[in-house]
Amino acid sequence: MKELIAMDLGDSIKILDLHSLVRFRLDKPSNKLKGGPQGMKRINLKRYILPAIMLIVFETVAITLWLAKDNIFYLFNFSYIGISITLGLVLFEHKYKHARRIVQLLVGLYMLVYLGLICNENMQIEGFWYYLFTGVFEAATIHYAVAKIFGPLIFGRGWCGYACWTALVLDFLPYKIPDHKRRKIGWIRYIAFAAAFVFVAALFVANVANIERIMFWAFIVGNILYYAVGIALAFIFKDNRAFCKYICPITVFLKPMSYFALFRIKCNKSKCVSCGSCKRVCPMDVDITDNSRKRKNGTECILCMECVRSCPKDAL
Ligand code: SF4
Ligand code: SF4
Ligand code: SF4
Repeated sequence: MKELIAMDLGDSIKILDLHSLVRFRLDKPSNKLKGGPQGMKRINLKRYILPAIMLIVFETVAITLWLAKDNIFYLFNFSYIGISITLGLVLFEHKYKHARRIVQLLVGLYMLVYLGLICNENMQIEGFWYYLFTGVFEAATIHYAVAKIFGPLIFGRGWCGYACWTALVLDFLPYKIPDHKRRKIGWIRYIAFAAAFVFVAALFVANVANIERIMFWAFIVGNILYYAVGIALAFIFKDNRAFCKYICPITVFLKPMSYFALFRIKCNKSKCVSCGSCKRVCPMDVDITDNSRKRKNGTECILCMECVRSCPKDAL
């Protein structure tokens, strides 16, 4: 199997064949029966290069922030996330079907339960505004900078596919393949975005006491609301990711930044037979066969790799 992931460098588009770098193998049905005793004997260390690079990147961030902020929490935090993602990549490499869900569970639950509920860090968008207003460049602001603002310039909406604790629950719902009917209600995300900003700004303008406590409860209430709306929409629209498409305020950051993403899935046109399978399985309605940055719903790709798995011609 050969997957092509494109790396756009300036105006020239270069197709990076990851098989030459690492055998980034996925759980494609066509591969399930391959291998056999001969395949099992072969030990290909190249397949671990990508996981190793990811681990090194996260450890670098962990150590840098630990030393810069003199806070060992950053060492623990980014090491944990890096190890989780590395584990996911290794599981992908071994064609484990639920690799993405494992990473989602490891990272999403850690952020929701440990950072949010135990450490009282509001990691929702209100928390981002709150820490920004207080001028504190700590967990929530760093999280937004890395995962949702600057990170998408490199890995697009990987956050949405592998770490978001809202999608973690939504992805368990039955409508994994949506009905592909787009509703024109995406403007709601801007209302949600503005509402979060106004809510936090009002707390500061009114000089409300104990804002930190309010932010903790805002995190709990906000999450309950997100889950309730997300689950209701999934059933109404028969689409697990309806919340992501129309409501989530974080997409106000994610969509424009991921437009420029360095790592994108690309289509090898010489192999594609226009069977439409990739579009049918895509939870975000992305036209992945169009290699331009203006591809339909291109800024919504969550790198879930369902299209790659479904392609009968290994064109993706
Ligand atoms: S769009 Fe929002 S809710 Fe959906 S996965 Fe991304 S951050 Fe999470
Ligand atoms: S199926 Fe493919 S195009 Fe659609 S979101 Fe997943 S990775 Fe992106
Ligand atoms: S599934 Fe593969 S062959 Fe079919 S349209 Fe998509 S890229 Fe082309």
